[in-house]
Amino acid sequence: MPIRVLPPHVATKIAAGEVVERPASVAKELIENAIDAGATDIQIEIRRGGRRLIRVSDNGCGIPRDQAKLAFARHATSKISSEEDLLRVTTLGFRGEALSSIAAVSQVAMLTRVEGETTGILLRLEGGEIVRSDKRGGTPGTVVTVENLFYNTPARLKFLRSEFTETKHTVKLLNAYAMAYPELRFRLTVDGRLSLQTSGSGKVYDVLIKVFGLEMTQQMLEIGSDERTLAADTGQEDSVPASHSSEIRVRGYVGAPSLHRATRDYQFLFVNGRWIRDRSLSYAIREAYRTLLPTGRHPVTVVHIALDPTEVDVNVHPTKRELRFRDPRGVFAAVQRAVRRTIIGQAPVAAMTSQPAAVRAGDWERGTHFRQQVRLNRTQMALEMQRPVDTGMLTTTGAPMREQLPMLRVLGQIKQMYIISEGPEGLYLIDQHAAHERIIFEQLQAEQTAMAVSSQTLLEPLTIELTPRQQGLLGELLEHLKSFGFDIAPFGGNSLLVRAVPAALGPAHIRSMIAELLDVAGEGRNVPVSLEHTLTVIACHSAVRAGQTLTTDEARELVRQLEKTSAPYTCPHGRPTMIHLSSAQLEHSFGRR
Ligand code: ADP
Ligand code: MG
Repeated sequence: MPIRVLPPHVATKIAAGEVVERPASVAKELIENAIDAGATDIQIEIRRGGRRLIRVSDNGCGIPRDQAKLAFARHATSKISSEEDLLRVTTLGFRGEALSSIAAVSQVAMLTRVEGETTGILLRLEGGEIVRSDKRGGTPGTVVTVENLFYNTPARLKFLRSEFTETKHTVKLLNAYAMAYPELRFRLTVDGRLSLQTSGSGKVYDVLIKVFGLEMTQQMLEIGSDERTLAADTGQEDSVPASHSSEIRVRGYVGAPSLHRATRDYQFLFVNGRWIRDRSLSYAIREAYRTLLPTGRHPVTVVHIALDPTEVDVNVHPTKRELRFRDPRGVFAAVQRAVRRTIIGQAPVAAMTSQPAAVRAGDWERGTHFRQQVRLNRTQMALEMQRPVDTGMLTTTGAPMREQLPMLRVLGQIKQMYIISEGPEGLYLIDQHAAHERIIFEQLQAEQTAMAVSSQTLLEPLTIELTPRQQGLLGELLEHLKSFGFDIAPFGGNSLLVRAVPAALGPAHIRSMIAELLDVAGEGRNVPVSLEHTLTVIACHSAVRAGQTLTTDEARELVRQLEKTSAPYTCPHGRPTMIHLSSAQLEHSFGRR
């Protein structure tokens, strides 16, 4: 379709507002234009957080020479032409406003050429006015260069954050688009340095490795490829008229429950290839992880939803990151169900426990005053998945508070995860990881207080690659970590050299631990991270894992050390270290009383 200015009655239907908030919004619009133009190769360059320069080059269809100027007119688009088109948008752009809005607040150059023409055109604009137009050669495709953003609107310039923060937004944007379009090759350079490059293999998994790293990606589970739901088939029959029914497909990858992060930064949501924000769907995903993640921790998720374009209204917000579903409850249920099924169906055993049928939720209690979370068995899980929001968590109020752990006799280990032991008042099931976390936490805390931290020098120093975002947080964190027994120094470029770590920390977990500390710092609330939080993170990464076999002696030693701690019943995250089945409950359950 040629570029045309939308007739006024259509233009007024377009959600009004500013599209250019910051450099990343310019990058977003230009990348979307490249994708809409059918590009397979998209290169992005930013300088000084994008204030100085943003350049997007693509090998898409280009713009015919005689239409190039029109592309910069307000409401000029080749993607829709009528009001009805707004109801079934299949392209990322449709508003015809991006190029004109960007040009109004910057200095723009656009070089474009279509395959069929021998020469293309180079246009230069300043503050929205075309100042030069030349015929130019070049390969088919389009290069848009945006310089000195907001140079003529000082008030808006003032609202930009630091270069680091602005860069972070663009990096995240690129991560998102690379995940949404694994079949396209993306390349991002930041101040001349390569930040992200994807192969265009078509496999989301390959992109995840680039974005999250191999270690994290290996803990991601693919959402079942058969997760197709009819909107009218999601347990919402009463609310969905048959005429609305259409297929909702949910694809992507979600982290196993063992993979969790301190921030929501690792959650991505796409609808028909559009990177969106949606509180309700984020909630659906959180619900799917209910009872499976420690409190305050967030899953890693990349969720793609595909449905008929007539089922979504994308003309809600000028940035097109919010949308409205015709059947929000159907989409909510489809997402929650797909994610939940994936976690339950594929997660390693460690993520779940089954309760013996004879012991009901109310019969379990913990030897503390804390509320206890009883995990669901498979049947309950299956039932739960039928309902979008329900009582996924069974709680009981615990027994009277006790300060000290009684002497326990270790009987053995089950599932390479729990230590079974007997005490004066019945059976105790101890979570080996949580218990060990508590022990290490208190040891480290004592060493800190006494300023006698034990550190171990690594035989082979370890190098760690950082993302640009992590690098910016590093300075203060390095000083902070010294007092915990770390010896870490910048090692040129993006790297860090780790020479020594706290004695409790195993070398295998150094990388993930440092990544987590940087994540916490990146939340911006605590730089440096609080003492207690740092101790918690170190303890968590140092503690024995679920899945590790313990000899009876080792189990005994662990319980003995737990007895010595000041808060043996909870791990530093506040989760229980054990559950207790009293003699009375045993008798009751076996019908002896
Ligand atoms: P919209 O994308 O909403 O149509 P824009 O202002 O972003 O509006 O772009 C205006 C028009 O310019 C587009 O409809 C498209 O025809 C053309 N255009 C913009 N960028 C490109 C590109 N990279 N390749 C080909 N055509 C482009
Ligand atoms: Mg556009």
